[in-house]
Amino acid sequence: MSSNDHRRRAHQRAESFRCAQCRLDVSMDAPGTAHRNHCPGCLTSRHVDLRRPGDRAAECGARMEPLAIAVRGDGEWVLIHRCTGCDALSANRTAGDDNPLLLVRMAIRPLAQPPFPLEVLAQL
Ligand SMILES: [Zn+2]
Ligand SMILES: [Zn+2]
Repeated sequence: MSSNDHRRRAHQRAESFRCAQCRLDVSMDAPGTAHRNHCPGCLTSRHVDLRRPGDRAAECGARMEPLAIAVRGDGEWVLIHRCTGCDALSANRTAGDDNPLLLVRMAIRPLAQPPFPLEVLAQL
């Protein structure tokens, strides 16, 4: 592809992106969220948004690794990403087709590796 072609394509509204981690071609249409910002296969994201999802205002562009799961008051799962370039954290809604095995594995990781013996809880 020539650099000219590349520039022309960049002007079009992005309809898919290639995952920086597993190279999956990901459609921007995500069930359950307006802004697809991570790969449904490996949950990796890129640091492109600065303040709001979809603003594409960040200049970093580095790969963002899934770090943890948080839950909002309404029960919605939120994926916490950490940027491998600048250590920024971001919270992103999970999509309906995100890899459920990876999501659950991340959610139970703290319980699988508790910082104290869980037997302590029985004594409270
Ligand atoms: Zn991926
Ligand atoms: Zn970054």
